[in-house]
Amino acid sequence: MFPMVTGFMNYGEQTIRATRYIGQGFMITLSHANRFPVTIQYPYDKLITSERFRGRIHFEFDKCIACEVCVRVCPIDLPVVDWKLETGIRKKRLFNYSIDFGICIFCGNCVEYCPTNCLSMTEEYELATYDRHELNYNQISLGRLPIPIIEDYTIRPILNFTQIKNR
Ligand code: SF4
Ligand code: SF4
Repeated sequence: MFPMVTGFMNYGEQTIRATRYIGQGFMITLSHANRFPVTIQYPYDKLITSERFRGRIHFEFDKCIACEVCVRVCPIDLPVVDWKLETGIRKKRLFNYSIDFGICIFCGNCVEYCPTNCLSMTEEYELATYDRHELNYNQISLGRLPIPIIEDYTIRPILNFTQIKNR
């Protein structure tokens, strides 16, 4: 008798749990039905990236002291810092600096730990090329600042859902 009662109780509990999960899923679907805009007509429309978006890295050559902290904190030792010690002035002279965005995971560690703040993350995410070697950016490519989406008159900037909600 008791095993049958326990079996019924378990079945009842499982039914209630399943109904609750279905209800939760349904509520999420309903909350999405209220969102706007649903389709971004890229590349004519572009989403305004969030404030802490981690896009392509910007580098300021004149600020770099060739300390190589960015290399040590990078999980894949990616930045290439080419320098030579100038014995006369007892300082490092930086010749080249490069980051390969074909390998970079955009974790932001190098930006976080750079002691002179010469690295920063931009909102640029359109890095597609036909040849992945072109993604190896030298100091000249890294020094270019992207046009902010809101200043690009050729496209229509779109706020994302969180930005609309916080307005
Ligand atoms: S951590 Fe900053 S200052 Fe040091 S080598 Fe890297 S980019 Fe240059
Ligand atoms: S963003 Fe991360 S992976 Fe890319 S260079 Fe910096 S530390 Fe390395």
